[in-house]
Order: sequence, then structure tokens, then C-alpha cells
Amino acid sequence: MPDLPDIQTLRWCSMLASLAFFGVFAGLWLGRRDERHYLHWAGGSLLYTLVIFSFTISAHTPFQDGILYALLSASTLCVLTGVRRFDGRPPFPAWLLLPVAAAGLGYGLPAHLVGADSAAARIGGTLGSMATMALTGGLLIFGSAKVRGPGRRIAGAALLGYVPAFLAAIAAEAFGAAGVNMAALIPMLADQLLLAVLNLGLIAMPGERAQMQLREAALRDPLTGVWNRAGLAALPPRLLGPETAVIVLDIDHFKAINDQHGHGAGDRVLIALVETARAVLPITDAEIVRLGGDEFVAVLPGRSLAEASWLADEIRHALRRAVQSRPDLPPCTVSLGIATREPGDPDLARAIERADAKLYQAKAQGRDRAA
Ligand code: GH3
Ligand code: MG
Repeated sequence: MPDLPDIQTLRWCSMLASLAFFGVFAGLWLGRRDERHYLHWAGGSLLYTLVIFSFTISAHTPFQDGILYALLSASTLCVLTGVRRFDGRPPFPAWLLLPVAAAGLGYGLPAHLVGADSAAARIGGTLGSMATMALTGGLLIFGSAKVRGPGRRIAGAALLGYVPAFLAAIAAEAFGAAGVNMAALIPMLADQLLLAVLNLGLIAMPGERAQMQLREAALRDPLTGVWNRAGLAALPPRLLGPETAVIVLDIDHFKAINDQHGHGAGDRVLIALVETARAVLPITDAEIVRLGGDEFVAVLPGRSLAEASWLADEIRHALRRAVQSRPDLPPCTVSLGIATREPGDPDLARAIERADAKLYQAKAQGRDRAA
């Protein structure tokens, strides 16, 4: 059995690593001051460094050690407050005081009652720290978030990774490991493994989000927010299965609307058409794509031709009602062509072509109708 490393050396390793991450997060914040999540993560790293440094100095009162455990919990919660800030939520909900108090009292109470150097005090302090780690890690992985990329999950998993280390420390303390402060040693060993993983996960999060936003922007039409042609190509295959109906929609005499009422009015008509179609199409799976200009296609998985025809007429009537009730909209109507995917079709393009042919039939028959 190799010799165990001594706790002081491990603490110094953790302090130096945490200080390095403080420098990284502070530097990132200095470069982008509006991205305040970096400030939380920098603060958490600095606080963690200072707390570990304070632990290296011996001779504390139980009260002082209780405060240190509370601050240790607070340094972990800085990860969470930063992630909340990153998500655009209020970073400091009042309930955060609970884990901080629990960590302080977890050590402080048994230290006061049984003794500062007792296993009970060390187990109590360890339980408090573990609860904060589990809470923060769990919220990162399972909490509500618009984007839950690999970085967030890695950071959450790193925090949850401390839990078995704390449990091992508690077990070692409870069964009396001769003369070694296991409550400090095992978590400090785990720290060498997990501190870097946690912070690398956090560092990855903003880049992942930017990448998602760029991808989203490349696939969406900025005016109406629906998919563009590239977005149509990127739709998940389950939406493009054999049981899919398509409705092609095209505003009637749109060029004349632009000419008579101005381009702004034309834009409002396009937005109103999308809003109307969204309100009518009942299935969450339905996707709307702007094919170009004033032409859109609604993709309706699992819908028959008859159902799609009924929905097309509903959209047409709903647009008419919208025009009547909104003074900002110029008079306008829409023509629609409907088709379904046939068994021999290799993809959705054939169905859209057929719906397009139907649309021109509707236009030729006098517009303001579905074919
Ligand atoms: P039809 O009834 O046969 O569909 O005739 P139309 O005038 O609607 O069709 P046409 O294809 O001749 O005109 C489409 C017009 O859409 C021409 C173009 O200037 C306009 N357009 C394309 N994109 C936009 C946009 O984003 N906003 C606005 N306001 N107009 C646009
Ligand atoms: Mg048109």
C-alpha cells in the first residue's frame, strides 16, 4: 500500500488550481464585462482558495470552523449563482441561505456539543458540504435550462462526483480510521480529479450556447422566426416520415400589397400569416418553413390529405378574421396547396412540389382558396 499524501500538500494543490481558475474567470470577465456569470465563477474560485487556505491554518474555534464550512458551501453555490445568471434568472434566490446555514451548523453544532476534533463534527461538516455539492450538481444536470449542452452536464457530473468521495470520508470517519483526518483527506483527493473537470465544464458553456445560437440563426428566417430552407433540410427525420402532409401557403398579390401599402405593411402581413398558421395548427409537431418571399410550407406529420385540407381552410379563414380585426394589416388573402407524401417519394421535396402545383391551381382558379 503506497503512503497516503499528506493533507496539507493536497490543500496547496487545490488552492493553486483554484487560484488559476480564478485568474481564468476573472480574465474572461475583464474581456466581456456584460457576461457577469464569469464574475460568479471567479468569486467562487477565489472564495474556495481562501477557505482552503484558512483550513491550513490550525487552531480555530468551533465557531470559526463553522463559518469556514458555511463559506465552503457558499463557494460551491457560486457555481449555481453563475449558472443562474448565465440563464438570465435572478442569481441569488433567498433559499440559497439554507445550504450555507446547514453546512455551517452541520459542523458547528456537533463541534460545540461533542468537541471540535470529534468525528461527529467532521461528519456533520462533510454532510453539509456534500448536500451543497449534490444540490448544485443535480440542478445543473436536471434543472430547467433552455440549452443543456455537454459543458453544463460535465460540470454537474463533476459536482455529483464529490458525493461518493464525501460518503467514503463519512464512512472512514464513522469506522475510525486510525489517526488520519479522512473527512479532509478523501475530499481533497477527489478535488485533484474533479476541480478541473468542473471548471472546464463551466468554461465550455458560453461557447456552446453561442454555437447553438449561431446554428439557430442560420436555420431561421429573421423576420418571422420560422425555419428557412436550410432549416427545412435540418428538420428531424421523424417529421418527414411517410405519413406527412404539407400545405404550401402564398399571399395573394403580395407585390401589390408592398407597392400600395409599403414594405413595412408587407412584412406585417407575412408575420400575421405565420402567427395565424401557428395558432391554427394544433399539433406541437407541426413545423412552418419560409420557402422564400411570400411562400411558406407547413409540414404536418401524421396528417391525412382531408385533415390537412380542413386545416388549410381554417388558416385562410383565420387570416381573414385577423385582417378584419387589426387596423395595422392591409387587406390580404392567402392561397394554399395541399399534398401528402406518397409511398414512392424519396423525401419531402416531391410532396412540396405537388403542393406547389396545387397552389398554382388555386391561384389560377381565382386565389383566396385551398386546392
Ligand atoms: P401571387 O398572387 O401570384 O402570389 O402574386 P404575388 O404578388 O404575391 O407574387 P410575386 O412572386 O410576384 O411577389 C412576391 C413579392 O414578395 C415580391 C417581393 O418584392 C416581395 N417580398 C419578398 N420578400 C419580402 C419580404 O421579406 N418582405 C416584404 N415586404 N416583401 C417581400
Ligand atoms: Mg404571392
